[in-house]
Amino acid sequence: MRCPHDQTTLQSRIYEESIRVDECDTCGGRYLDPGELRQIQETREHDYSERLKTLPDLVGRAHAAALAASKPPISCPRCEVPMDRREHGYSSQILVDVCPQCRGVWLDRGELEALEVFFERVQREVSPDDEKGGRRSARLSYFWSLRELFGGIT
Ligand SMILES: [Zn+2]
Ligand SMILES: [Zn+2]
Repeated sequence: MRCPHDQTTLQSRIYEESIRVDECDTCGGRYLDPGELRQIQETREHDYSERLKTLPDLVGRAHAAALAASKPPISCPRCEVPMDRREHGYSSQILVDVCPQCRGVWLDRGELEALEVFFERVQREVSPDDEKGGRRSARLSYFWSLRELFGGIT
């Protein structure tokens, strides 16, 4: 597969545990098969608690980058059909490209990290004295954001 931005051949890499992503060495973009993004978010092997402090920056950059790249639509590296750009979850401000055909996801440089930080933050909004209910609602909003991202096919 080739990068939709610069046609560099994508390199298959291990991201966390056994999750393979296809990465572009030129622009740092990544292609994820359907379900891989969810796996990454559920695994959350990396500790992003420190990076929460830099969240506004990180999200701002990812958002700006996504906006800058907003036209024209990129093509899915696998199917070569135009991908749909949409915001991931509610108010994450992180735009991802989703293939309407294979449901694969393209993430520009830094977007995957921004998403991980976003979910770290969602988890931490759980109030400590209502941990059970809070965790449930965090999981619920997580679930809804995934439904939105994958158009209900999860
Ligand atoms: Zn590239
Ligand atoms: Zn596709």
